[in-house]
Amino acid sequence: SVRVRFAPSPTGFLHIGGLRTALYNYLFAKGNDGTFVLRIEDTDQSRYVEGAEEDIKESLKWVGMDIDEGPENSGDVGPYRQSERKDIYEEYAEQLVEQGNAYYAFDTPEELDQMRERLKKSGNPSPKYDAITRMSMKNSLTLPEEEVERKLEEGEEYVIRLKVPRRENIRFEDEVRGFVSFESKGLDDQVLIKSDGMPTYHLANVVDDHLMEISHVIRGEEWLSSTPKHILMYEYFGWEPPKMAHLPLIMSPSGGKLSKRKAESEGIPINTKDYIEQKFEPEALVNFLAYLGWSPGDDTEIHSMDELTDLFSLDRVSKGGAVFDYKKLIWYNEHYLREKPADELFPRVKAIANEHGIDPDEEYMKEIIPLMKDRVSKVEDFVTMGKFFFEDPEEYEEQAKKKWKDNSAELLQAYVDEIKEFDEDDFEAGKLKDKIKEIVEAHDVGWGPLMMPLRVAVSGMGYGPDLTPTLELLGKETTVRRIETAIE
Ligand code: GLU
Repeated sequence: SVRVRFAPSPTGFLHIGGLRTALYNYLFAKGNDGTFVLRIEDTDQSRYVEGAEEDIKESLKWVGMDIDEGPENSGDVGPYRQSERKDIYEEYAEQLVEQGNAYYAFDTPEELDQMRERLKKSGNPSPKYDAITRMSMKNSLTLPEEEVERKLEEGEEYVIRLKVPRRENIRFEDEVRGFVSFESKGLDDQVLIKSDGMPTYHLANVVDDHLMEISHVIRGEEWLSSTPKHILMYEYFGWEPPKMAHLPLIMSPSGGKLSKRKAESEGIPINTKDYIEQKFEPEALVNFLAYLGWSPGDDTEIHSMDELTDLFSLDRVSKGGAVFDYKKLIWYNEHYLREKPADELFPRVKAIANEHGIDPDEEYMKEIIPLMKDRVSKVEDFVTMGKFFFEDPEEYEEQAKKKWKDNSAELLQAYVDEIKEFDEDDFEAGKLKDKIKEIVEAHDVGWGPLMMPLRVAVSGMGYGPDLTPTLELLGKETTVRRIETAIE
């Protein structure tokens, strides 16, 4: 059966690359009646960030990915935090030592530095602790057995390293990339247990994927170069490796990997938390991220999470980097906003309005929402762009003022004189529009010369929702007052 895991390290806020990895795992699991596991890889205490695990869980919840097994809802293969599994890893590292596939190494940090310096000087640009250099180092492969025993007894610090063969071709089939092969001479003797007794990512990851019966490892391309080491370990343990799928890098629109710094400089929010705070529609982010490195192979673009689980497959994940197109994300956001009924949006709009010191009447707001729907990109635009529905404009936007021409006051005067005489019942979009037509025809001008200043007068802005329905919603008194103020 299909079992996948999302295995973040709690080293900071969950960024969108991590969220995409989680999403692909989730879609694959749900589409295959599988299980979605959350495993917290927190063995590197120096990088641990307080609150990061909470942020991960909140982020997954916000986009609607339910965790089948994880720290909060244990299955049979827990615990699901690696820091709570320390003893397990030790045992497996010892097993590799006994089998001769790993060894104790007693080199001090200074000795390792010296080794790297020496090799660099002799023209080796990427010095490694490998089959060649280990002969000159202090480890159980080069020291007499008694000395190793003595050092261990005396409690001398050590690490356990994987014994990587000198010349071997390590091959595996990646579900996205096809056959991948690495030469073992390019790998170092990976540390498996650190001197503080904690496992490294590599050991913990392999042991846990095996013990948690993970069928498919779906993760970012940056882990591809670790995979040959993992494959070796599976071989030494005599375990069948899970299927591997490495997802393409997320690229910045200006080229290169979308790093945190790059994202910042290009105005792209990088953490899921930012999207939550900026009140994006979670469905939009899901739909957008699903297409960031995958597509269903037709020209459809809009799909809900449920549809995506049906459509998703690893063989349609692309190999090449996926460019983060922020405009596309906004397009998705606009789409999902438009889909939502005013009833659903109202409480959210109200909360934002309250932050702006406005307490919108429910009925009134529910008429404003549909009117503004095709103008807004984010839910907060209902408030920032729609503020004038509640307050007379205090000033007119610079852009808007440019729409004010020599004949504007005259045309507005003519219009306001007429609509003042309207019965309340006649103050509706159709009749207000007919009146505009009458006046522009009488003055022999186009629609713009009256519509533009009219919009500016009532809203203070040069753009906004459909004009005459807007006037109708504002009502006669407000509309007249604002026009007269503008003419003065
Ligand atoms: N802990 C790793 C990370 O932070 C997991 C990589 C993997 O999925 O193997 O991304």
